[in-house]
Amino acid sequence: MSIRAEHLTHIYGQGTAFEQYALKDVNFEIPDGQFVGLIGHTGSGKSTLIQHLNGLLRASSGTIYYNGEDIYAQGYNMKQLRTKVGLVFQYPEHQLFEVDVFSDVCFGPKNMGLPKDEIAARAREALKLVGLKEKYYKQSPFELSGGQKRRVAIAGVLAMRPEVLILDEPTAGLDPRGRDEILDLVNSLQDNRGMTIILVSHSMEDVAKYADRLMVMSGGEKVFDDTPKNVFRHYKELEAIGLSAPQVTYIVQRLRENGVDISEDLTTVAEAKDAILKLLRDKGRLQAAGKPDPGAGGNAGASGNAGAGKSAGAGKNAGAGAKKASGRKGAR
Ligand code: ADP
Ligand code: MG
Repeated sequence: MSIRAEHLTHIYGQGTAFEQYALKDVNFEIPDGQFVGLIGHTGSGKSTLIQHLNGLLRASSGTIYYNGEDIYAQGYNMKQLRTKVGLVFQYPEHQLFEVDVFSDVCFGPKNMGLPKDEIAARAREALKLVGLKEKYYKQSPFELSGGQKRRVAIAGVLAMRPEVLILDEPTAGLDPRGRDEILDLVNSLQDNRGMTIILVSHSMEDVAKYADRLMVMSGGEKVFDDTPKNVFRHYKELEAIGLSAPQVTYIVQRLRENGVDISEDLTTVAEAKDAILKLLRDKGRLQAAGKPDPGAGGNAGASGNAGAGKSAGAGKNAGAGAKKASGRKGAR
């Protein structure tokens, strides 16, 4: 099963003087359980695109198929679609409004017309998923920290038990800790629940670590759609559309330019660390054996600390950013 967009085009204010193409002939298919990063500069059409996926916005032309069904077909159950494809808006905490956290999370399932017990059970389940402790349930959402508020808002969507979770810039405005909490949470939803994730972001660092696939938008068009590694190879083109590859990509690139034999496919800090340590160790071994070093053609800063005694695997975060196996990992 999947979400498929065919020739999706959206024009705001069509037929008026303010006509604006926000999406131009966008095509893709996202299979179940994939983690997709949707990237693009401000105004590139990301928010417009995702609002089509649960039927909030209607395409000017083209269509969307959810699990093979055309969502614009007559009699299609849009209300149900909105529970299956959960959308967490940008700054979702602005939409918290109930007197306490628990009531707020109940709003979605209540709207679905579920029985009372079921509503409460789902709210509990969702709050547990986002890791919010019970002592907060009866608090006003406004008393919580920024990261906690955002988790409550995500719980509100999860309480509808969606199959697909779309998050629009979920880390915007959070400190690094809040950001990591949200990203780890989203990642665990894919890993443990097999959810399909679409994460909108303008930060490459955010998506490099988690996404199976990146779709890059520019001016309403999809300009790249590939694995993060393959997309980051185009870092010069990404810069031209106001984006950049993860910082580590640039460091690796500089090392390569200086003759260091390091793979250009390293996109996370953990991967680069492992590779650099390995180079240093190999170099140390060669030097100890009195052999010339074939690894570094130039004088790139890869000399010096060889054999510092720290093995690549010993670091706390070693491998944390390594690419996860893709595909569905949980049964639904
Ligand atoms: P992003 O989420 O990537 O920043 P958006 O989807 O919000 O991009 O916007 C895409 C384009 O559509 C931009 O040029 C934006 O100005 C325009 N746009 C967005 N929302 C509206 C709207 N409600 N009315 C008119 N134009 C809009
Ligand atoms: Mg947006």
